[in-house]
Formats: sequence, C-alpha cells, structure tokens
Amino acid sequence: MTQQRFVFEPSPGIQDPSAGRSDCPEILPDPRPPSGPVKTPASSLLKSAVFVRNPRARRYVVRVRADGVVRVTIPNRGSKRQAILFAEQQRDWIATELARAERERARPREVLAPEVLEALRLQAKRDLPARLLELAAEFSVMVSRVTIRNQRWRWGSCSRAGHISLNWRLITMPDWVRDYVLIHELMHLRRMDHSPVFWKHVAAACPNYEEARAWLRKFKTVPPPA
Ligand SMILES: [Zn+2]
Repeated sequence: MTQQRFVFEPSPGIQDPSAGRSDCPEILPDPRPPSGPVKTPASSLLKSAVFVRNPRARRYVVRVRADGVVRVTIPNRGSKRQAILFAEQQRDWIATELARAERERARPREVLAPEVLEALRLQAKRDLPARLLELAAEFSVMVSRVTIRNQRWRWGSCSRAGHISLNWRLITMPDWVRDYVLIHELMHLRRMDHSPVFWKHVAAACPNYEEARAWLRKFKTVPPPA
C-alpha cells in the first residue's frame, strides 16, 4: 500500500465527540511513523496540498495519496490555519511518505487476475463473518452486523452499535493474524478506545497480539488493492 495517513488529536477547544466508532489506527496497513528525519521545507511539500473540510471529522488528518497528493482534512470547528500548522509539524513524515509513494509508483506491480480477486472476495464473504461470530460467542460479545468491505485504509472498524466492518484482504493472512484483527474489533465492543484497559482485553483474548501487530506492520497487504 502506498497511501498513508496520520491521525492527530484535536487541538484544545475542538471537541472530540469521541467515539461512535473506532478508527483503529494501529491496525491500518502501515501505521509506522517515519524512520528518520528528511529535511525538506514544509512550504514545498505543502504547495500542492489539498485542504478538505469535513464536519464529521474529529481530528486533523494528513494523508499522502498514492499519486503523491497531500490531503489535509479539517475537522468540525477546525481552521485552515490550524490545518497548515499541523501539516507543517508532520513535514518529515510527509516527506518520507511522498518518497515512498514515488518508489511505489516506480515499482512494477504484481497484479492478481480478476477471477482470483473475485474468488478471494467470495471466500472472505463466506468465511470472515462466520469466524467473527465464532469468536464473538467465545468472548461473549454481541455483534449486530458484519460487513465485508474493500477498505483501502483499515483492516477493520467497529461501531458502538455493534456493526463490524472487515477488510476482505484479511482472508489472505495467516489465521492467527486475522484472528487478532477480529478480536481487536470485538474488544471494541467492550471499550471503544485504545486505552490500556482496551489492550488488556485484547491481551487476555489474544495472547500473541503483539506478534500479530508486528506481522501487520511488516507485511502490510498481501494482494494489491483492487
Ligand atoms: Zn481499534
């Protein structure tokens, strides 16, 4: 995956209605921060940035798209000035991601045949909800709805109402990594945040979760996005 995003806590005075939903930034395909500083002036990085106001956003978010466009989301009650300040603070990260996106674009892609993709998606629709419900029963949490989606950014998400969305690409992962993502979402039905209490629930239900998180960071996605 070439696209990235970075989540920023709202500045004081901007309320975070918190959490009808978990965004699970730590199980985004590659949530790693930049590995080292890259010195590029913020002005040149942000020259072509697109600022988009989204009243439903809770935070300032910077994304570097696969085509190299920097996109900055301005949350409810946020300002463009704050958005620029935030993006400037992220300049090293943005530079690293722009370089990565450029390398990715230059790299020849392994493309899966459409019929292979279709078969994987069908398998995901059949197997992932069944496994999720199995785990939900095991940990006594109530799932109201399961959707299999083609998210580019998330492996999964969970709403307060118990609606869990899963990325079909989970089907291509080793079972124990997939189970971690499923358990992660299920544990949000106990805690809609990523607090230490939440991680305690995850650790109790999935003792090798640290290993699974490391796997996700290392391998990112298996089939390229369709
Ligand atoms: Zn989460």
